[in-house]
Amino acid sequence: MNHPDSPDDRLPPVASFQAYLEQLHQKYQPLNHGKVADYIPELAKASPDWFGICVATTDGRIFEVGDSDRIFTIQSISKVFVQGLALEDHGRSFLLSKVGVEPTGDAFNAIVLDEQSKRPYNPMVNAGAIATTSHIKGDSHTDRLNRMLDMFRRYIGHDVAVDISTFVSERTTGSRNRAMAYLMNNFGMIDFRVEEALDLYFQQCSLMVNCRDLAVMAATLANYGVNPLTGDRAVAACYIRDLLSVMYTCGMYNFAGEWAYTIGLPAKSGVSGGIIVVVPNQMGIAVFSPPLDARGNSVRGGKVCEAISADFGLHLFDSSLGCRTFLEKLQ
Ligand code: GLN
Repeated sequence: MNHPDSPDDRLPPVASFQAYLEQLHQKYQPLNHGKVADYIPELAKASPDWFGICVATTDGRIFEVGDSDRIFTIQSISKVFVQGLALEDHGRSFLLSKVGVEPTGDAFNAIVLDEQSKRPYNPMVNAGAIATTSHIKGDSHTDRLNRMLDMFRRYIGHDVAVDISTFVSERTTGSRNRAMAYLMNNFGMIDFRVEEALDLYFQQCSLMVNCRDLAVMAATLANYGVNPLTGDRAVAACYIRDLLSVMYTCGMYNFAGEWAYTIGLPAKSGVSGGIIVVVPNQMGIAVFSPPLDARGNSVRGGKVCEAISADFGLHLFDSSLGCRTFLEKLQ
């Protein structure tokens, strides 16, 4: 029987994937919905026209189009990777005692903790990310920052740095994050000096990346923690399932349910306009386009991810297409 939603059998040929991405870029460049974030003043300088797409496969191929080299700050996409470092430092049960793994229907910057446990809901919302960051091990703030930068370097495959203007911009306007941090400190969810935890969090959000870097980072997650370009391990393989399941359920904030339902892949967005998507075993997808929807997710980014997932049958639970993997088709 033919159902109205049965998947189309005619998937585009993956051999011309570069041409496919170029078409996608052309199709969505004119889309002018959404608004560039301005609550962090430095982010307001971004052009609404910037638009880059990059796909990195787990066998080391890169496909890129548009502004894939333009540098921007990683923002909330950093939260996934810092969660990995915190898990390596403390293990699952400690981290779970400080930060939950429940999706929340609230916005990413909501000032809300679980009523009973007093934990922030998950490591992808600001409260949970600040708490997670506060547990990174190290002898001093500099040591903790350097451990973080070193971790990001392994995912990206080259040296990384923090954008000082964005860091200062966030730090001087971050009253909301500061309020959350002090509230969590009151309940024992933050371990060391609150101001230092906040600075470290603002620094991780101000890490400079481009779309290509993000795609390689996502491909490293897809490759169970090994950077497919350098062969370096960025995170212990045993924690990939933690990161991907939290991305899947919480990565797109109060749109996470609909994202999981329609696109069906773990993803994470940031307010500077980046989105990463992980296709386990196969590839990392990154899109950069600053205009955001009301939930703080890139508008063009959402469209591109939805198209790639649908066109190549990548929804994790799409049984009818499960055997037709992307890499098998790529010549
Ligand atoms: N640095 C931003 C903040 O703390 C990150 C938010 C985001 O990217 N969603 O508000």
